[in-house]
Amino acid sequence: MKPKRIVVVGGGIVGLATAHKLGRLFPQSNIVVLEKEGRPGAHQTGHNSGVLHCGLYYKPGSIKARLAVEGIREMVQFCRHHGIHHDVCGKIVVAVDEPEVKRLRDLETRGKANGLKGLEWLEPEAMREIEPNVTGRAALKVPQEGIVDYGQVTAVLVEQIQAAGNEVHCHEKVTVAQRIHQRWLLQTQRNEFHADYLVTCAGLHSDRVSELTGARRDVRIIPFRGEYYQIKPERQHLVNHLIYPVPDPEFPFLGVHFTRMIHGGIEAGPNAVLALAREGYRKTDLNVVDLVDAVSYPGLWRFIARYPRMTFLELWRSLSKKRFCTSLQRLVPALRMSDLTTGGAGVRAQAMSLEGDLVHDFAFVDGPGALHVVNAPSPAATASLAIGQEIAERVKYNLD
Ligand SMILES: Cc1cc2nc3c(=O)[nH]c(=O)nc-3n(C[C@H](O)[C@H](O)[C@H](O)COP(=O)(O)OP(=O)(O)OC[C@H]3O[C@@H](n4cnc5c(N)ncnc54)[C@H](O)[C@@H]3O)c2cc1C
Repeated sequence: MKPKRIVVVGGGIVGLATAHKLGRLFPQSNIVVLEKEGRPGAHQTGHNSGVLHCGLYYKPGSIKARLAVEGIREMVQFCRHHGIHHDVCGKIVVAVDEPEVKRLRDLETRGKANGLKGLEWLEPEAMREIEPNVTGRAALKVPQEGIVDYGQVTAVLVEQIQAAGNEVHCHEKVTVAQRIHQRWLLQTQRNEFHADYLVTCAGLHSDRVSELTGARRDVRIIPFRGEYYQIKPERQHLVNHLIYPVPDPEFPFLGVHFTRMIHGGIEAGPNAVLALAREGYRKTDLNVVDLVDAVSYPGLWRFIARYPRMTFLELWRSLSKKRFCTSLQRLVPALRMSDLTTGGAGVRAQAMSLEGDLVHDFAFVDGPGALHVVNAPSPAATASLAIGQEIAERVKYNLD
């Protein structure tokens, strides 16, 4: 079947990359992106760390591992082709004690199983040649990672979609989705749109938007805020590129790290603290609907009961700059609290199961005449073009 119109709900990087790829696979169709905010990329896409991640951390065989490895390659090519600011500067992951050295070896094995080339095990001396201010027992150098301006990627994707004759509409929050005679009728606060096929990529609201179409809300989005500090200009010499700790394998978060930003400056963070609002960028932001949605979900309580220490430590680190600084000093001992100034924050859309498990993999769910992206956490920005291709192919398969 050749659909006349495919609507993509959500103008973050995943929705835009999907529309771009759908435009290529369905050149005869009209592809329309509906975004609730006044500009695309206003949420996770516009509040992330700006890192190009490859497939180091992800379980071999997972969708995430496959799309991360393909995705970084395609994203770097896309940036080169369109003159988007990026720098494949490489990163190091640093183990500071013996248990971490063992976990770092596991990461190396994982990265190799995912097909990463050029991973390099560094002893302390070699590590200090790259990052002289870092102390640790060992490090893993990941040469293909880097930094990028995702705002620019977003803008170029919009241009590409429009140049192909397709559309991106802002200020169009989808509030109703009805299936009538094998087509979709979507209502926003201002307009109505018809679609033969629907793809939802609604980030922090992905569970709610898919539910609008009648899909079951099997997992719930739980918002985890990631807060950053910035390093004062006179102390930025402490960090050359990207310095990461060895992450806790239980969690999909990478631990607070140092990132040189593509337009200058160094960020430290993000942490991962439970947020009281899905779009709550400040500690004091509270949204009653979001809060009730989270606390009425048994999965959240099961998660807290299973990981009380982690939940508490993240809260403490969010409230205490000293605690945040102590985490960073494990990697760069010369860092002082006075070197840090408060930076921005982002909120991660993290799908959680009823059992309290964080969903690690990217997750897509098919519905009648629809495909829903229900979990697209990091590195979905890096992998967005590969995710878009995957979705476009799934849509084609479903339609055929
Ligand atoms: C703190 C932080 C750091 C991160 N660091 C990195 C990193 O360095 N590298 C990396 O690869 N990834 C990183 N990520 C992850 C990455 O940013 C996300 O995985 C990615 O941006 C997800 O894109 P998205 O389009 O799915 O979501 P979003 O960017 O959140 O977009 C979803 C869009 O849907 C819209 N929407 C929602 N509901 C509706 C509705 N009803 N109608 C219309 N529109 C709607 C929203 O307004 C939003 O614009 C980070 C994330 C965070 C939060």
